[in-house]
Amino acid sequence: MGLSLRWKITLWFGAVMALVVTLCFTAVFLVSNEVLQKGARDKLVEDVEANADEVFAYESGHAPNAEGAETGRYLDRNGFVVEVEEDFISLMNGTGVALYESDGQLLYGMNKIARETSSLALGNGRVQTVEVSGVRWYVYDRPLEGNGLEGLFLRGTVSEAQAALELSDITRISLVAMVTLLVIGVLGGYLIARRQLRPIEQISSTAKQVGETYDLTRRVDLDPGADELHELAASFDAMVEKLDSAFDAQRRLTADVSHELRTPTAIIMAQCEYTLEEERDPEEYREALETVQRQGAKLSGLVDDILEISRIRYNGNAYPFQPVDLSAVAAASGAGMSDLGVRGITLERDIEEAVQVQGNATLLQRLVDNIVANAFRYGIDGGHVLISLHRHDGSAVLSVADDGIGIAQEDLERIFDRFYQSDRARTGVGSGLGLALAKQIAELHEGTISVESELGRGSTFTVRLPCLDQDRG
Ligand code: ADP
Repeated sequence: MGLSLRWKITLWFGAVMALVVTLCFTAVFLVSNEVLQKGARDKLVEDVEANADEVFAYESGHAPNAEGAETGRYLDRNGFVVEVEEDFISLMNGTGVALYESDGQLLYGMNKIARETSSLALGNGRVQTVEVSGVRWYVYDRPLEGNGLEGLFLRGTVSEAQAALELSDITRISLVAMVTLLVIGVLGGYLIARRQLRPIEQISSTAKQVGETYDLTRRVDLDPGADELHELAASFDAMVEKLDSAFDAQRRLTADVSHELRTPTAIIMAQCEYTLEEERDPEEYREALETVQRQGAKLSGLVDDILEISRIRYNGNAYPFQPVDLSAVAAASGAGMSDLGVRGITLERDIEEAVQVQGNATLLQRLVDNIVANAFRYGIDGGHVLISLHRHDGSAVLSVADDGIGIAQEDLERIFDRFYQSDRARTGVGSGLGLALAKQIAELHEGTISVESELGRGSTFTVRLPCLDQDRG
């Protein structure tokens, strides 16, 4: 497995931070080094200048004062006595100061690199840099002035390393500070990355669980939040929710279908077994075959309706939409029945011309046919069925009214459910799917279907669909 996202972010963050820290450190190092070296050179000049005030010359015979005679150093030189007072500091904090003759002869003082620098030309008031056996030194020469002091000079020396000593403290402190910062930064970055990316882990583990256990009730259920990951988790949950209800619907359909198929199948089996038990006369065979045919027709209708329902739900493309003349659809519906004069029922129509809707003609015909068929099926002998279609408020309103058996109040809510049949309808040829299909088709067309009914007086089913040509409505 490759690096986790968390680590990748942390590493990148850490690398950038290390780079920044290194740059800062280098800058601190360079700047402080420059400042310290300059400080060392200034200090060197200062020390030498201070010592220059401690060297005097007297003509020979002019004795200096008594105090000086006890503590100072006296050098005879060209008829003068050169006095180096006791305040002359020849070595302090690594800075050495010494008195020289112009020919390079060391007269007084300490100088660690006196020998090596004796050949060095007399600098005049400038700090020079000399390298002696791998160490760089600052050298400052100061000619002395005044009677008897001509030709003498002071040379101060201090090594670069002396300044670097102080630098190493600064370096150490800043190094520790920066490494601490880096560690805190990287650690903080890691913790934040881990916290921020936790939802991904939750989503991934939920997805894994759903995949492994087929348990569609699982959800990521993140704490509230509004970032992209929370959005992702919410979408994931919504998707699983939808899958869950789809599977649930599928499960229920399968259960309902098996249940509904069982009755006609059992009747066919029982009828066949009974008839085959012994020799029958032709009339009995005919009756048995008619029963089998009736149940077979019921089975076949059931299977057709089920296929239709699932095709509409899961394969929307099977029914392309286009403008449909609903008036023509309504006019065509019920033609067969009224022509045949089914049970003496009279079919009437009150259809407005050219009512257009956007939809699928086959499905819309199916929808209207289903309710019209019901009106005949549950109508009374010699009754009436009225199909009417009008535009109303931008909708096409199609209703089918009968004066048949009507529907009990308690059944009204459920007649659009799949396989629901009132007790009185159970024995008929219907499958209980007609209205479920009708409702599904209406909803597919962004329309509604409703019913008003009174037991024993008749029913009116009303379908409302969005009208295509509202301006003419
Ligand atoms: P079926 O195949 O049983 O007709 P439907 O889904 O078409 O199934 O109808 C469901 C139930 O609604 C029917 O069984 C019947 O009880 C009731 N029903 C439908 N239309 C009418 C109607 N016009 N008059 C009275 N009852 C009806």
